[in-house]
Amino acid sequence: MSTVILENQHDTSKITLRLLEKTELFVSLTRRAFIQWLTTNVAIMGADMLLSPLHSQDNPKLLPAPPTLMFHSRHRWLLPDIINWLIADGFTGITYLDLEQALQEKISLPEKPVIITIDDIAMDKGNPNFETFAAMQATLVQANFAGVFGVITRPDWQQADDRWGQVAEWTQQHIELATHTATHRVLDNPQWTNDDYDLEIAASAQMITDYTGQPVKTLITPYGSGYQQQQNQTNPAVVAACQRAGIRFVVGIVEGRQPLALNPAADDVLYMGRTVPGPDDTLSGAQAGIANWIYWSGEQLRN
Ligand SMILES: [Zn+2]
Repeated sequence: MSTVILENQHDTSKITLRLLEKTELFVSLTRRAFIQWLTTNVAIMGADMLLSPLHSQDNPKLLPAPPTLMFHSRHRWLLPDIINWLIADGFTGITYLDLEQALQEKISLPEKPVIITIDDIAMDKGNPNFETFAAMQATLVQANFAGVFGVITRPDWQQADDRWGQVAEWTQQHIELATHTATHRVLDNPQWTNDDYDLEIAASAQMITDYTGQPVKTLITPYGSGYQQQQNQTNPAVVAACQRAGIRFVVGIVEGRQPLALNPAADDVLYMGRTVPGPDDTLSGAQAGIANWIYWSGEQLRN
């Protein structure tokens, strides 16, 4: 059985993470960066994920969770390199809307699907980052690659109708708009009432639909909140709010790599994780994140 081996080099400031067998990736990181990276990418994946017969060969009613990358506006200049590599490696971009269709067996996914998510776009007037996100969207569309933008709706800010018009056009170019909530606060707040959750989730989703016509099926949670790792569950208040809003996917960071059961119930809310382009925003970090994802998801056992 293949395994992840941590080789402590003679140079104690460096650790090499070596993924054996299926991948030739070697990522050399500083110790601090490595531990940080490990925290978000490896340590969080329990061994139990490998113990159950999750991969689709054993159970045709399961669909592997597509590897998913998380980007922000600072990755504008990294994104083209990563998209080029993904294409060269045979990956095809999909959205959560595609994934929902595939889970309902209405479409089949490409052989190597990947989900590109880009967080924190907002369409309030004068928002200085909008053009950066628009450039990232252009990178995707020019490469014929699908992607998902996490929208902070900021309802109390004056909205730029022309920007909303622009993102409405994106939804015709294989770009999904997910809600990234109204005000980008941590969702695990015991003081919050249902109304608070509805303002952050349902009202935000509805605002996106009102401006663009696209139904919102995905919540990307701020700071990876909404997933209770110790209990291994999505925050029940978040699940209930998503059910009220007709949202199918809660997207955080940790875990959420397990294969998904086909034909989920109409009100099932599925949690999915994401990985990052390494601790230092590099192509090799993204490659390692995807290799790890495929490894830990059990997908590698298929061949
Ligand atoms: Zn965010």
